[in-house]
Amino acid sequence: MEKKERRTFLKQTAIGIAGIAAIPFAGKANESLSFNAGTENKLNVLCVGAHPGDPEFGCGGTLAKYSEAGHNVTILYLTRGEAGDPAKSFAESASLRTKEAEVACRALNAKPLFAGQIDGNTELNKVRNEEMTKLILAQKPDIVFTQWPVDSHIDHQVAGLLSLTAWVRSNQQFHLYYYEVNTGSETMGFEPTDYVDISNVREKKKAAMFAHQTQRPQETYDDFFKAMEEFRGLEAGVKAAEAFVHFKAKAGRATIVGL
Ligand SMILES: [Zn+2]
Repeated sequence: MEKKERRTFLKQTAIGIAGIAAIPFAGKANESLSFNAGTENKLNVLCVGAHPGDPEFGCGGTLAKYSEAGHNVTILYLTRGEAGDPAKSFAESASLRTKEAEVACRALNAKPLFAGQIDGNTELNKVRNEEMTKLILAQKPDIVFTQWPVDSHIDHQVAGLLSLTAWVRSNQQFHLYYYEVNTGSETMGFEPTDYVDISNVREKKKAAMFAHQTQRPQETYDDFFKAMEEFRGLEAGVKAAEAFVHFKAKAGRATIVGL
């Protein structure tokens, strides 16, 4: 499908997350929004995260649903998690965590990409913005998921803001959704606009999360993400959900149901 036609198509399905059964504003899942991709309407879904694991923990369920529905899913890691373990060299950690990311991507049927920044030392400046905008737009994304930038971790802030700039510079050509991680200790001030029911893909998401063996996945899941999935599920009226803040393009803003 040509880009222009696909945009029109996206606009028509853009209540909640385009292309899958999303739950806008805690309403019930609207099945009429769901579809399976044929060759005609495959979406390019890109998820940006600062470190290996952020995309999988933050929205692995949603990514699993997109790939199950036949869409192209790519995960772009800003760093390779170089600073993850003070007992290891950057090179050792990067190599281990790259392998873990590749295993996680296989579980989600996603393609891994690495942006080449360094964990704990990510940069937000003119050159990095240009580099990241190029990299994001080269994927021709219809939808980009990225980290909510109000976060205690500077790398998460940088990942979110670099993606925001790509969206602005592309003239808002793709849908931009923010995901949360470790709300309560990292993500702050996150008020979801959209929810995705992940009840039937929790095991697949777990396989992706637990691929990150160096990150104490059991503890991270038990202490944060299990509770978050269930709390967001309570808000959305389903068993488990992932929550997002959707930055609508201008064309979709001046509308309200029924008018
Ligand atoms: Zn992180």
